[in-house]
Amino acid sequence: KVNTTSNDYNIVISSNFESLQQNLIDVGVENKKVCVITDDNVSKYYLDNVINILSDITSKLSYKVIPHGEINKNLGTINTIYQKMIEEKMDRDSYLIALGGGVTGDMVGFASATFMRGNNFIQIPTTLLSQVDSSIGGKTGVDFEGYKNIIGSFHQPELVYINTSTLSTLPKKEVSAGMGEIIKHGLIADKDYFDFIKTNSTLINQLDSDVLEDLIYRSCVIKSDIVSQDEKEKGIRATLNFGHTIGHAVERLFDFKLLHGECVAIGMVSAAYLSFLLNQIDNKQLEDIKKCIRSFDLPTEINTLEPETIYNELFHDKKTKNDILNIILLKGIGTCEIRNDIEKERIIEAIKYIL
Ligand code: NAD
Ligand code: ZN
Repeated sequence: KVNTTSNDYNIVISSNFESLQQNLIDVGVENKKVCVITDDNVSKYYLDNVINILSDITSKLSYKVIPHGEINKNLGTINTIYQKMIEEKMDRDSYLIALGGGVTGDMVGFASATFMRGNNFIQIPTTLLSQVDSSIGGKTGVDFEGYKNIIGSFHQPELVYINTSTLSTLPKKEVSAGMGEIIKHGLIADKDYFDFIKTNSTLINQLDSDVLEDLIYRSCVIKSDIVSQDEKEKGIRATLNFGHTIGHAVERLFDFKLLHGECVAIGMVSAAYLSFLLNQIDNKQLEDIKKCIRSFDLPTEINTLEPETIYNELFHDKKTKNDILNIILLKGIGTCEIRNDIEKERIIEAIKYIL
């Protein structure tokens, strides 16, 4: 259960779509106007299934397939969703359903937040990243003129329904990218969970359904606990940015050609090294973190960039206010702190570590 000041909702984790219909009924979808939005990859696998499930509980049903990829996460695509909503005469009682990864979820959430000042939406996330991260917490939005997620709104869903078996069709690289955020959850919030991830890396890589269910459950608990405490990111929610300060800079410098989770992995190594330099973790813990990241085929370093280039780019983050750099550091494994007092020399040293 996620409890935020604006809305309480359930995250349901299942290995199939069997309980989807009942959950939709429980949140009030029956006989309502519903439009399913999905992308042109996900539609091939799961759209028919979801439409069938919905057609038993409402006749006012439509769908729209949008082009996949971050490049289409923009106001142009939002326009086409609004047009569809007008065509279907949707209103504030209607439901949008996001069937897909974080790109679909962020856009559908934004369309739902803004259409007639807000209607209902449901997340059916189909990537590992969206199941443990983007579908929970109500951050919605699009990219604009090269700025990621710069236009957006907080808007909580009515339900998050995770079918872990959808991961069977997800490209391996995308599964690894999701693991970047999952390792982050262990590192910032739960040592025992980090150990679980380390111990079970082989089974996770094989998408063993029992282990996957535990993994997704534990990550969802961590994310929803944090979001429930701090919906609008005034405090503790910022700890979810561990690895993201340097990660985002790398992501932008590589022109978004690396996956977000890969950049977060590199950023986490750098932030972990910084924590080591400040005697907050020891060498064994640092090595453990790198080993864990590598066990999911995620990178721990990059080349072809200069330390100063990365350092300067840190200040171009939309979250950097008044040139004050907030960096999340580990204090051991499973706890962390937000710091804004780290000297440039130390940060450069931590950047050099990943080059
Ligand atoms: P994505 O939505 O682009 O999905 C990745 C790729 O996998 C796409 O090509 C998609 O078509 C395909 N795909 C999705 N599910 C599939 C499946 N089951 N089988 C086969 N192919 C499938 O990317 P993502 O990693 O899920 O999400 C990234 C986005 O999430 C970014 O835009 C990021 O900004 C956003 N995000 C948002 C939040 C938040 O709190 N709202 C948090 C983290 C990330
Ligand atoms: Zn992230």
